[in-house]
Amino acid sequence: MKQYLKRAWAEISLPNLESNIALIKKLAGNSDIMAVVKADAYGHGEGEICHCLEKSGIRYFAVSNLDEALQVRGFCPESEILILGYTPPEYAEYLAENNIIQGVLSKEYALELVRNHKNIRCHIKIDTGMGRIGLKYDTPEECAEEIKNIINTDGLSVEGIYTHFAVADCDDEENIKYTDNQEKFILDTYEILKSQNINLKHVHFMNSASLCYRANPKSTLARAGIIMYGLCPNYPLPIPDGFKPVMSLKAVVSHVKTVKKGDCISYGRTFVADHEMKIATVTIGYADGYSRLLSSKADVLLNGKRCRITGRICMDQLMIDVTDNNAEEGDIVTLIGTDGNETITADELAYLYNTIGYEVVCGISKRVPRVYIE
Ligand SMILES: *Cc1c(COP(=O)(O)O)cnc(C)c1O
Repeated sequence: MKQYLKRAWAEISLPNLESNIALIKKLAGNSDIMAVVKADAYGHGEGEICHCLEKSGIRYFAVSNLDEALQVRGFCPESEILILGYTPPEYAEYLAENNIIQGVLSKEYALELVRNHKNIRCHIKIDTGMGRIGLKYDTPEECAEEIKNIINTDGLSVEGIYTHFAVADCDDEENIKYTDNQEKFILDTYEILKSQNINLKHVHFMNSASLCYRANPKSTLARAGIIMYGLCPNYPLPIPDGFKPVMSLKAVVSHVKTVKKGDCISYGRTFVADHEMKIATVTIGYADGYSRLLSSKADVLLNGKRCRITGRICMDQLMIDVTDNNAEEGDIVTLIGTDGNETITADELAYLYNTIGYEVVCGISKRVPRVYIE
C-alpha cells in the first residue's frame, strides 16, 4: 500500500466495488453497464476505480466533461467514454483524437462541433422532463424529425439517444407516472426512427434509481452511478439488499482531556459541558470535506462505540465526547464506515444536514488521501 499520512484518509474498498458491480450486472440483465465515474468517481478516485471496473468487465464509462474524459481515456485505452455534459466546440479535435463520444444537446451545437473538427461521435440528449439539457419537443414525432436533421450533419456520427430521469428515485404515484412518461417519450422516439430505417445502436435512460426500482431492458445501457459506490439514490428509500458502501472515512485522536462543568468547546462556545466530561480532539475538519453543518449533530465511531461531536467543527479538527469511551491519543476514529457492530453511512450524514450521500462523498476534499483496500 502507498505511504500516506495517517491524519485523515478515505479507505476505498475495491472488493465492495466488485461485489456491487456483480449485483448491478444482475439488475441490468441484458443492458450493458455504463459506469458513471464523473467527479473523480464520486470522490473515490477515478484511476483505481476505472482499473477495477475494467477488470470487472465494464466497457462503457460516462463522465461530465472533457478533462475527465481525457483522464479516463488514459486509464481505459479501449473502452467507450461518453461525455454527458457540455464540451466547448473549440475542443472538438480532442474528442475525435481520443475517440470520445460527446453528448449533443442541439442541432446548433452539433454544427459547431463539426465546424471545428470532423469525425465526431455522439449520442443525442433529449430533455423529456429533467429540464436541464437536450432537445425539447412536445411530441416524439417532432423530436424524431429533429434527430433526423442532426443525423444528416456531415462529419457527425450519431450512435444513440439518451435522456435523464428527474424523479426515478420517488415511489409515489404522481412521480412514477412522470417517469413513465419520460421513458415512453424516448422509447417512442426511438421506435419512430426505427420505423424509418434509422437504427441507432443505443437508446438509454436508466440511472441508479431506475435500475433499483424499475429496471427496463429496453435501455441498451444502464448508467450506474451512486449504487456502484454502495449508496442510496434517495435515502431513506432502501437500495436492494447486498450493496456495500465503498468509501470509509477515518482520522485519529490527537488529544484527550477532562473538562469541568461550564467549560466551553470550540468556536462560538456553542457547546458548554454540563458535567465533568472527557473530550477528544480528532484530526479532521471541514477543509477535508467533512461538513461544518454536522457540528454537534453527527456521531463518529471510536472503539466500536458512537461518540457525538461537541461544538463547531473547525477547518482541520473537531472535538468529540468520549466520557464513556477509553479514548487514547493515536486511536483511529471512523467518521464514515464500520467499527465493531456500529456503522455510519454517508447517507446517514447526508440526512443530518439535509443533503444526499452523493454530495457527502463528492465533497471529501483533495487533502484526504484515498487508500485502496484490495
Ligand atoms: C450523474 C448521472 C447519472 C448517474 O446518476 P446516479 O443517480 O448516480 O446513478 C446518469 N446519467 C446522467 C445523465 C447523469 O448526469
